[in-house]
Parts: sequence; structure tokens; C-alpha cells
Amino acid sequence: MLKGKTAIITGASRGIGKGVAELFARNGCNIAFTFASSVEKARAFEAELAAYGIKAIGYQSDAADFNAAHALVDQVLKDFGNIDILINNAGITKDTLIMRMSEEQWDDVIHVNLKSAFNMTKACLKTFLKNRAGSIINMSSVVGVNGNAGQANYAASKAGMIGFTKSVAKELGSRNIRCNALAPGFIQTEMTASLDQDVVKGWVEGIPLKRGGTTEDVANACLFLASDMSSYITGQTINIDGGMVM
Ligand code: NAP
Repeated sequence: MLKGKTAIITGASRGIGKGVAELFARNGCNIAFTFASSVEKARAFEAELAAYGIKAIGYQSDAADFNAAHALVDQVLKDFGNIDILINNAGITKDTLIMRMSEEQWDDVIHVNLKSAFNMTKACLKTFLKNRAGSIINMSSVVGVNGNAGQANYAASKAGMIGFTKSVAKELGSRNIRCNALAPGFIQTEMTASLDQDVVKGWVEGIPLKRGGTTEDVANACLFLASDMSSYITGQTINIDGGMVM
């Protein structure tokens, strides 16, 4: 479905980003992916992706850093020649009640999760405008839709991504650049592995489909939004949460 296209996926050394990169590679897409510190995992993953017969390069690049995002996109253009799809997936949590939340915990989460989307979108824009095409997918969260006690910083960053998505869709729709958000619910990755298992059990009970999501569940929606199958869809947020939020 993405044969010959090139995607930049931030934060794909593990978790959801990794699942998306794998599915895209299986669908013929060249992959430029980023990571923060997992150098060995990223190198091994490059080789795994290349086995699908596509070009794959991992870049160590801090998505929160405006200049680094621009340098990354310049390098990707040198290495790949073009960019068709941007997936703003890199994200972190620094959970605590607002009473205890430090300025640093607030700033870190807003910068890595939200400012990163601005940095990368702006850096890719010239290419998308030149191509008169582009699909941007922002990884929000059901927590951005509904809020969550103990996650005010994370919820604000993910809600911000939804507003950002709608604004970009409105600004750039006339140039055939689409921008959508995904709002995953509880997806089993390293980010959620550290959660209290009793809390997780309670959540799963409350999910209509009675299970946590997989990285493949999110990757499938990404593939749809990246491909021409969704060519008339922009500015939307799709929940991938087993019915958790309706
Ligand atoms: P994860 O397993 O913790 O992986 C996070 C990825 O982001 C890693 O590749 C990490 O690189 C990278 N990263 C972290 N900080 C970065 C930075 N400053 N610059 C570039 N890359 C950075 O997370 P995940 O569960 O797959 O989540 C992926 C996205 O989905 C996040 O935006 C998250 O908020 C969102 N989400 C997740 C869930 C869920 O249930 N898991 C639900 C809703 C939304 P390193 O390996 O080098 O650290």
C-alpha cells in the first residue's frame, strides 16, 4: 500500500513506533526512524527492516529540539531524496499529581510530546508543499481526549496535539496535505509495562472489547491514514481503544 514512499517515524526503536515501522516496511515503504538513546536496538531494527527490501535508517535525534528536527529532515532528504509521510509518535510520561508536579516534569512532557510535533511538521513542510502531497499522523491518546488524574502534563500535551492536528488540516488542506491524529487507549508496550497490574486489570474489565490493544492495532490505523485509502480524511482523531472512550 505504500510502495516507493518514504516515511519519517519519530520514536520507533520500540513500542508503537516500531510496530508502525514494521507494517509500513512490509507494505513497501522506506523508513527513516528516530530514537532518543536506544542505539543498539535501533541498529538491529535497521537490519530487520532492510530485510523487507526497503531502505531503512535510524537516527538518534531529540524530537523536542527544534534545530535537531530541522537537521534531521535535511539529512533524511539527503539519504532518501523525498518524504511522503510524517508520524509524530515519540512520547514520554512523567506522571504525578499536579500538587507534586515540578516545572521540569511539565516542561519535559510538553516539549517531547507536543513541541516535537510542531518541530517535525515545520521541518517537513517545504517538502510536502513542493510535492503538493503529504500525510501527517500525530500520536495523541485517549488521555488527551478525556483527561486523567495524575497525568495533567501528558493529557495537556496529547490534547494539544489534537488542536494542532485540526489547525494543520485547515491550513494545509488546499495543498493536499492531510493531518490526522490517533488516540490509542491502553496499548501493551514498555510505556505501559511499568503500570500496576491490578490497575491494568481494572482498566481491561472496563474496555468493551475486554483486552488491551497491540502495537499492530495502532499500526493498522496508521497504514490506513498514511495511504491513499484515506485520501478524503483530514483533521480527524481516531480512537483505537477497544471502545474505552465513546
Ligand atoms: P515507548 O515504548 O516508551 O517508546 C517511546 C519511543 O519514543 C522510543 O522509541 C523512544 O526512544 C522514543 N523517544 C522518547 N523520547 C524521545 C525524544 N525526545 N526524541 C526522539 N525519540 C524519543 O512508547 P509507546 O508506548 O510506544 O508510545 C508511543 C506513542 O504513543 C507516545 O507518543 C505515547 O504517548 C503514545 N501512546 C501510547 C499508549 C500506550 O498505551 N502505550 C497509549 C496512547 C498513546 P528510546 O528507545 O531511544 O528511548
